[in-house]
Amino acid sequence: MSQLTVGKDVLSYCTKCKLNLGHIIVAMKDVKHIAKVKCNTCGTLQAYKDPSISSKQNKTRTKKTLMTPSKIISVSELWMEKMSSTKKKSTPYAMDAHFVKGDIIDHTKFGPGIVEKVVDDKIEVIFRHEIKTLVHNK
Ligand SMILES: [Zn+2]
Repeated sequence: MSQLTVGKDVLSYCTKCKLNLGHIIVAMKDVKHIAKVKCNTCGTLQAYKDPSISSKQNKTRTKKTLMTPSKIISVSELWMEKMSSTKKKSTPYAMDAHFVKGDIIDHTKFGPGIVEKVVDDKIEVIFRHEIKTLVHNK
């Protein structure tokens, strides 16, 4: 990598031309960091803006924002949430019983579950480990 010194040409983003253009270094922050540059095109004196670094940093920041975990909840978490937010008493599950959304059923095989959806003679029930579609109202 060539040494950066005052008077050397460097590519910088010109805020006036709004382009990455050749600039002349007019001041250094330290041996590796340019402080001020002068645009070869318009002659504006401005703070050095590394075109590659600044865009990279922006991308990283965007990625981080996007990677913020959107709330993914598992079936058991959903079950816990539903079960703790209801005060209904559980009803033993039977095919001939009639259930409505929000009912708590007690299934002999799957244990307690909460009715999430009712579609005609079928109910979608959230159990501790899985969501099941059961029949009712038969
Ligand atoms: Zn310029």
